Amino acid sequence: MRYRDLGNTGLKVSEISFGTIPVLSGDVPVLPDYFSLNEDEAISVMEYAYNLGCNLFDTAIVPEYGDAEIKLGKFAAHIGRENIIISDKSRFFDGNEMYKAVLESCKNLDSYSDIYFIHQVDEGNEDVTFGKYGAVDALIELKAEGRIRFTGIASHYYGILLRGAKDSRVDVLQGSGNIFERGMLDQIESEIAFRQKGFILNKVYAAGILPSFFPVKTLISGVLSYPVSSALIGIGTSEQADQALKEPENYGRPSFSEVMSVLEKSFVPIPCDRCQRCRCIYGTEIHILLRQYNYYFLGKDYWALRKLDMSINESASQCKKCTEMSCMKNCPKAINIPESIQMIKRLVEIHIRNSRI
Ligand code: SF4
Ligand code: SF4
Repeated sequence: MRYRDLGNTGLKVSEISFGTIPVLSGDVPVLPDYFSLNEDEAISVMEYAYNLGCNLFDTAIVPEYGDAEIKLGKFAAHIGRENIIISDKSRFFDGNEMYKAVLESCKNLDSYSDIYFIHQVDEGNEDVTFGKYGAVDALIELKAEGRIRFTGIASHYYGILLRGAKDSRVDVLQGSGNIFERGMLDQIESEIAFRQKGFILNKVYAAGILPSFFPVKTLISGVLSYPVSSALIGIGTSEQADQALKEPENYGRPSFSEVMSVLEKSFVPIPCDRCQRCRCIYGTEIHILLRQYNYYFLGKDYWALRKLDMSINESASQCKKCTEMSCMKNCPKAINIPESIQMIKRLVEIHIRNSRI
């Protein structure tokens, strides 16, 4: 296992970090249905990964991630708290609520967190989060009190991560990307503001989809070729740990067109790398719609359809009357976005109709 600097924190983190979703149990939407480890099993998988060199373990507050935080606290006590780095998170944007959440997390872990992330920051909550007495300020206070060591922002949005990168109060960022959905990673690579911060990358397997199309080694060496501190992989078994934690021999990535040509053997993907440069005047999150379309054909059909069914009719009817089509001006892949949205609407209509017959 190789280690990288976590930005300017002084911490050295393993290139592969341990995501604890697969070791949780409980009635939780994020729980993969094939896992439900008890405490001893969870600790033994974490210890297995630790023995392979993994020193960064990522979790989230109870009950959002079931009991993963509690299990990680038990593992920390078992292995020696000082031997591992814990990153934790919760979805509170107001300072007061975040302060209370961190106290709760400390209780669950029976320890401090090395990094505490404000989870899922987006355009709707960013001003509260970064504003006076918002969650970032609360983390600064908690850092001064020694309840956490470093502050973090976790977001799926490039603009939010960039804001975090430019904010001197923020130490570490957590964002998503993989060799297919690499639009954010490409921008992070060329934006100097990110160089001072630690960066933990999630969704390396794209919700478990990509290992059916690419060797795990390619997925991991591909993302580690970007300037990230650690690639976060959900691990629930020793086999998964073996697969993920084997050191890549080099840090290369296939080109985007090489990735597309692999996927094109199964279907015709929309060539969206989720760079998020397109803006819809009605607020449609174009990159999410296009992702759901691709995910539908990549094996997440039920989940993708359910999500699309919630918003596609409204987005498609706005598109039909839109004359500006400003979304397409900045798309580096020259995707015909309004046409793609109508195509997605047809896909949903056909499949939802079929599922009702
Ligand atoms: S064409 Fe559709 S997606 Fe693009 S700006 Fe208009 S409404 Fe939004
Ligand atoms: S549609 Fe184009 S601009 Fe929008 S996220 Fe995809 S690649 Fe980027």
